[in-house]
Amino acid sequence: MTEIIDPSSASTASPQTESPGHAAATPPGLPFDGLPLSPAMLDTLCQLDYRTMTPIQAASLPLALAGHDLIAQAKTGSGKTAAFALPLLARLDVRTLAVQALVLCPTRELADQVTQEIRRLARFEANIKVLALCGGTPMRPQRDSLEHGAHVVVGTPGRIMDHLERGSLVLDALNTLVLDEADRMLDMGFHDDIAFVASRCPSARQTLLFSATYPEGIASLAARFLRRPQEVKLLEQHAGSKIRQRFYEIEHPARLQAVARLLRHYRPASTLAFCNTRQQCRDLVELLRAQGFAALALNGEMEQRERDQVLIQFANRSCSVLVATDVAARGLDIAQLEAVINVDVTPDPEIHIHRIGRTGRGEEDGWALSLCSSADRRRVAAIAQVLGFEPEWHAIDELVEDDSRPAQPPMTTLLILGGRKDKIRPADVLGALTGEAGFTREQVGKITVTDQTTYVAVERAIAREAVRRLSAGRLKGRKVKVRALEA
Ligand code: ADP
Ligand code: MG
Repeated sequence: MTEIIDPSSASTASPQTESPGHAAATPPGLPFDGLPLSPAMLDTLCQLDYRTMTPIQAASLPLALAGHDLIAQAKTGSGKTAAFALPLLARLDVRTLAVQALVLCPTRELADQVTQEIRRLARFEANIKVLALCGGTPMRPQRDSLEHGAHVVVGTPGRIMDHLERGSLVLDALNTLVLDEADRMLDMGFHDDIAFVASRCPSARQTLLFSATYPEGIASLAARFLRRPQEVKLLEQHAGSKIRQRFYEIEHPARLQAVARLLRHYRPASTLAFCNTRQQCRDLVELLRAQGFAALALNGEMEQRERDQVLIQFANRSCSVLVATDVAARGLDIAQLEAVINVDVTPDPEIHIHRIGRTGRGEEDGWALSLCSSADRRRVAAIAQVLGFEPEWHAIDELVEDDSRPAQPPMTTLLILGGRKDKIRPADVLGALTGEAGFTREQVGKITVTDQTTYVAVERAIAREAVRRLSAGRLKGRKVKVRALEA
């Protein structure tokens, strides 16, 4: 499946400048002329002022024009009509006056809108007949129109079914079936009607399913009526978030050192760096630590307890760089991530989006920095094509490095041997630190109690003293072992 982020709700492209608060520039969409469309059709698009494809069009048109069945999901107003209208029109043979395409819509209003849009797009060729067949109007005039012939029919499932049963509509010449707003058609109880209509279509056809949402029923509908469908899904990002993407070309041997250079240039407070292999994870952490960065590895072969510990340290802001594989980072949800670094560009646009989508959440800006070799430039081009952005390339030598020691994380995580099994609660730990030990509430961060152990974040400057005083005092009336975790 291909998932893409809608650049109109949140730009995946980079703004022109680095100044904070600068509105992201509108990403240049892709033009239609890269598609296998006739010059007349391209002219029509031009006249309609359709200059570039919307993201859902960019993702689905190449697949649909190549003849694939499609499940496409994108919110209302994203341009789904043209995404199915262009392929069905491109395949149409005007000289054959028979119904070659049928579009099912949930309501008369929607069917009318779709009919209008198809008629506008059909102007590239004279005499394409597009007919709307909806309930709520008499059958008779519709039957007359059908007798005169139509190339494309748009209608509501119930009325289409009526015409099929009466023999006024015949679908033997059909080559494209479109289920538009499939989620709403299911909501309105049209499942069986759709099944009936589909049973009257030739089995050698292309079926395109469009939907604004993806409820459970869609998958079974698709499984019944589509053949090996390609899925295209347009993810919406949190409004207002800004991910600024930059790509750096660098050959493999210099790759890990380049990560350190990026960190010294951008100086993000917290970074998630993605590696494609566990070995690369280990090597990178070793290199970063040797240069003074508070970096930890997260990989799939770690024990659960070890993994939890690393995640707690990172979430506690007592580790600045988390180096992870995709598997290990699955399900990770961390606020305040300032940067994501792709140590290797993944060939999969979906994975790329999941990786970079972890930064720039909410109101925050985020950097998505990717390193790739000259051989990987193709991968970037493919990802950019699917996601509809123009990759911004930079030279690694442009980086202005701050040579001072890397900033240390603001907090340190203390590990207390003793947890839920010992009836320790967060309040006990906070009480011990602010009571007897004499620290302020503000100096204490997140407290996580697990079965056997407790983790508490404290300001880095007081970490040693906090360990000393906690060890000297009591927790729940008992002596406890405490140590600061290294990061
Ligand atoms: P959806 O079916 O996803 O809700 P529509 O197909 O109705 O969206 O399109 C929404 C609006 O965008 C329509 O007014 C349509 O004419 C316009 N539109 C669609 N594609 C483009 C494009 N590539 N460039 C400019 N306008 C477009
Ligand atoms: Mg629509």
